[in-house]
Amino acid sequence: MNDPGRQFLRRLGYVFKDESLLDRALTHRSAGSGHNERLEFLGDSIINFITAEFLYRAQPDAREGQLTRLRALLVRRDTLAAVARELDLGMALKLGGGELKSGGRDRDSILADALEALVGAVYLDSGMDSCRDLVQRLFAEKIAQVQQRRVAKDAKTRLQERLQAKGLPLPTYEVVEVKGAPHNREFQVFCRVESLHNPTRGVGGSRRQAEQAAARLALEQLNDQGH
Ligand code: MN
Repeated sequence: MNDPGRQFLRRLGYVFKDESLLDRALTHRSAGSGHNERLEFLGDSIINFITAEFLYRAQPDAREGQLTRLRALLVRRDTLAAVARELDLGMALKLGGGELKSGGRDRDSILADALEALVGAVYLDSGMDSCRDLVQRLFAEKIAQVQQRRVAKDAKTRLQERLQAKGLPLPTYEVVEVKGAPHNREFQVFCRVESLHNPTRGVGGSRRQAEQAAARLALEQLNDQGH
């Protein structure tokens, strides 16, 4: 292997038992047969799975939609390409002449796909545990960034926690009006909190949205009152 290739392997920090897998993972389809597309297919799923598993454990309070958004940040093309660049993966790639001339070594799509293929290759070479270690190490910085954007708690949860902390009764929500055609409904919800004189009113395209809006107002009024 050439020097840039060796440098890449040092950064990767994983030694392949079967070097033909490594070879294949680094071969772009422009370089001919034996290319990495099937490994990419496999690795794409594995990265999705490992990041899902990680977020599931690390974010016990996050709802499904929030977990989905966090994972999307980790597995999107530019994140994968950034991880590949930290490894100098581009220099180790085998590309056809056309791709070489047009800057393929530094193209996001080629780098991201090759990183996926590499993860697929590590999985085939030594199984899920090694693969998980590798992905968590390679993505450590990106994972930390995502974790810092600590999933903001929604208004209903904050209101409930605030009242519970003071030993007060929980808020109650009541749908007081539903308007509009089925595909274009508008819900109006009252939120009643014992220490607020009047219910707060929230409007939204779903019951949940209306409740969140009403809870936000209740929180604001509690803030104003210094509760
Ligand atoms: Mn891909």
